[in-house]
Amino acid sequence: MDQYRVFGNPIKQSRSPLIHQSFAHQTQQKINYQSEYVELDQFEATIEDFVKSGGKGANITVPFKEQALTICDQLTERARLAGAVNTLSFVDGKILGDNTDGQGLVQDLLNNNVPLKNCRILLLGAGGAAKGVILPLLAQLPESIVIANRTLTKAESLIKQFNNEKLSALAFTALKNEKFDLVINATSASLSGTIPSIAKELVVNTHCYDMVYGNELTPFLLWAKDNGATKVMDGLGMLVGQAAESFRIWRNVHPEVAPILQRLR
Ligand code: NDP
Repeated sequence: MDQYRVFGNPIKQSRSPLIHQSFAHQTQQKINYQSEYVELDQFEATIEDFVKSGGKGANITVPFKEQALTICDQLTERARLAGAVNTLSFVDGKILGDNTDGQGLVQDLLNNNVPLKNCRILLLGAGGAAKGVILPLLAQLPESIVIANRTLTKAESLIKQFNNEKLSALAFTALKNEKFDLVINATSASLSGTIPSIAKELVVNTHCYDMVYGNELTPFLLWAKDNGATKVMDGLGMLVGQAAESFRIWRNVHPEVAPILQRLR
């Protein structure tokens, strides 16, 4: 049976095995997908061992996504620009790296009927997750994407890297008079029970998305809802969406996201 893994540290919390086994069942593919904890200094050796044992592919999660990029023989454009890899394929002795996070987000937004074409997007955060979604969002032809980050210099350096006229960087405090259709929280603030310090007027009549997910609405989504957001969405759909795109890359079939998302909820 073809072997797949998700490698990370920590890894216990990962829902990827459940998601991929459900995809396999749904599409009648025979695969074995498990999670594996990797010591911080053992990433490369672990991948090497897995390849030697006949492994076909792997998902890579925190904190190894950037390191995964360095071991690839070939990269997709979206992985190169994201500066991180979450999907490895082992083909004919070569390691191919891709990043499906952005596709997962875009697909989830579209599944939620959020129009992206000509839309004004506010992207909060300038870490790995924000970086990974910029190219797939641009591919949907939005009117503009403003990147705002607590540390402004990080947002500015992202703009330089992508060099696209639709992108601009602003400090949280400089957003006040701007108007957006969609606000995406790509910060990890919700994990610590906080929200990025932006004006509440920014979420009135907007769609709001938080990449973080949990059993209840995240602090950011609760706040957005209380302040007049049209619709709030968490990142569980993005998680299932990125997994679906990895599965497609490996197995060349498109699994259906909705039934698994429903099951996880
Ligand atoms: P990074 O550590 O690379 O970046 C964290 C970002 O959050 C930085 O921009 C940081 O700002 C900002 N930040 C952290 N705390 C606060 C705060 N209290 N107020 C304002 N900004 C804050 O993390 P990632 O980019 O990799 O991940 C971000 C989030 O996205 C994580 O919570 C992760 O779980 C989630 N994620 C979800 C996915 C999904 O499938 N649903 C996929 C990938 C990520 P600064 O630069 O100023 O420090």
